[in-house]
Amino acid sequence: MRVVASAYSVAEKAATIVRNVMAAGDLGIVEKTGANDLQTKADRLVQMSICASLARKFPKVTIIGEELVIWVDPLDGTKEYTEGLLDHVTVLIGIAYGGKAIAGVINQPYYNYEAGAGAVLGRTIWGVLGIGAFGFQLTEAPAGKHIIVTTRSHSSTLVNDCISALNPDSVIRVGGAGNKIIQLIEGKASAYVFASPGCKKWDTCAPEAILHAVGGKITDIHGNSFQYNKEVKHMNSAGVLATLRNYDYYASRIPNTVKQSLVP
Ligand code: AMP
Ligand code: MG
Ligand code: MG
Repeated sequence: MRVVASAYSVAEKAATIVRNVMAAGDLGIVEKTGANDLQTKADRLVQMSICASLARKFPKVTIIGEELVIWVDPLDGTKEYTEGLLDHVTVLIGIAYGGKAIAGVINQPYYNYEAGAGAVLGRTIWGVLGIGAFGFQLTEAPAGKHIIVTTRSHSSTLVNDCISALNPDSVIRVGGAGNKIIQLIEGKASAYVFASPGCKKWDTCAPEAILHAVGGKITDIHGNSFQYNKEVKHMNSAGVLATLRNYDYYASRIPNTVKQSLVP
């Protein structure tokens, strides 16, 4: 709980940095591995701020008793941040114990940004397995409708073929893994489907803990659960499938051809 409390306050500091960099006007964008993998000054400053702050409070933060690992995404949805889609952006701090995501904090620095001058900007959602998740109103997606949320800026033929095979009523394309889990827990979408590599452990750890804390489920596209021990491969190479309810419905409809294309 001390780590969760620190993650909560450090995420709020992070949100201020995210807003300040945008307000100052110079994002300092660099391309990381290739197309559509961006990093801004906000990513760099938040990474430093979160890591320095947690390391100061918890000197053995990467590993405590060989088992506690904290996965940080300083800015999730960087592509959308650079394009002014500000409420897609989140700061993610995930806490794993024994390889399992047990707690998470998602700060959404621009929550409410279109609500006008009086509205409070930003919010912090947090959750602990076995306790619950807070900072939002848990809402079910419309019953009997299949609403899929997926990537906005990292689509591929496979990503789209997989979604078509699920025969959805509608598809929501938004940035950020954190933001997509928010769509699930607030009843905007019934499943997060991403049949592609690209998403990393720091994208899924905090969202996973929060989703699991409210009874949802997230796995790769094959149904394998994610591991978060420090030796684990960073890339979620076999994609993402997440729901708040009715996980089996979606899992059973992922085509074998899609599964064969994504090696865990
Ligand atoms: P998205 O749903 O496209 O916003 O992706 C969720 C997270 O996974 C973000 O942090 C992205 O940067 C990352 N991601 C997904 N696909 C890719 C990709 N093809 N290349 C780099 N990063 C990716
Ligand atoms: Mg990310
Ligand atoms: Mg990021």
